[in-house]
Amino acid sequence: MGRVAIVTGGTRGIGEAISLALRDRGCTVVANYGGNDEKARIFTEATGIAAIKWDVGDHQACLDGCAAVADQFGPVDIVINNAGITRDGVLAKMSFDDWNEVMRINLGGCFNMAKATFGGMRNRGWGRIVNIGSVNGQAGQYGQVNYAAAKSGIHGFTKALAQEGAKFGVTVNAIAPGYVDTDMVAAVPAPVLEKIVAKIPVGRLGHAYEIARAVAFLCSENASFMTGSTLSVNGGQHMY
Ligand code: NAD
Repeated sequence: MGRVAIVTGGTRGIGEAISLALRDRGCTVVANYGGNDEKARIFTEATGIAAIKWDVGDHQACLDGCAAVADQFGPVDIVINNAGITRDGVLAKMSFDDWNEVMRINLGGCFNMAKATFGGMRNRGWGRIVNIGSVNGQAGQYGQVNYAAAKSGIHGFTKALAQEGAKFGVTVNAIAPGYVDTDMVAAVPAPVLEKIVAKIPVGRLGHAYEIARAVAFLCSENASFMTGSTLSVNGGQHMY
C-alpha cells in the first residue's frame, strides 16, 4: 500500500497484530503506546516498527505526536484508534475517575487523533480511519457502564465522521471485536470468562490477528465503498 499508518496502542495485544498486518501489506507503520517503554523497545527491536509514546487522551499530545510522525515519515494516511483501557465496576462502586478516564482515553482518543489527521487526509483526497469499538458497546455489559458508553460512543463517532469524509476519499469505519485473548481479557476473572466463552457460538476466544485482518481489509482499496460501517468480529457472540 505504501501508506503511512499510525496504530494507537500499537505495541501489544490487538494493536500489535494490527501494526504487523499493516506493515506486511506495505504500510510504513508507527505504533503509538501509552505506558510500557521496555515492552515498546522490545517490540521495535523484534519488528522494526517505530514506537512513539504519547497519551491519546491528551489533545495536545496527539497534535504534537501526529505532527512528529508526519515530519519523520510523511503525511499520515491511516489512523487506527485502537488504544483503550478498562476500569470495570458496578455503578455503585465506580468512581467519577473510573468513568472519566475511560471516556478520556477510549472515546476522547478518537477525537484527538482525528483532529490531528483528518484535515490532511481530506485535503489529499485519501484516508482511512478505523476505530476499535467492542461487542460490549453494542450489547452492553454488567459492570462496564463507562466502557460500554465509550465504545458505543465510538460507533456513533464513526458514523458521523464518515459523513464528513465520504466526498473526500476518506473512509471511517469501526470494528466491534468480541472477546480476544489479550492482556485485557486476561484481567477478567476465570469463572466469569468461562461463562462468557460458553456463550460464544464458535466456542473460543478470538485471536488478535483475526481482528487485524479485518482492519487491514478496511484500510485496503477493496473496502473503498465502505464507510460508516461497524464490522462485528466476535465469533457469533452478538449478531448485530
Ligand atoms: P491491551 O490492554 O492489551 O492493549 C491496549 C493498548 O492501549 C496498549 O498498547 C496500551 O499501551 C494502549 N494504551 C492504553 N492507554 C493509552 C493511552 N492513554 N495512550 C496511548 N495508548 C494507550 O488491550 P487489547 O485487548 O489489545 O485491546 C485493544 C483495543 O481493542 C482496545 O480499544 C479494547 O477496548 C478493544 N477490545 C478488546 C477486546 C478484547 O477482548 N481484548 C474486545 C473488544 C474490544
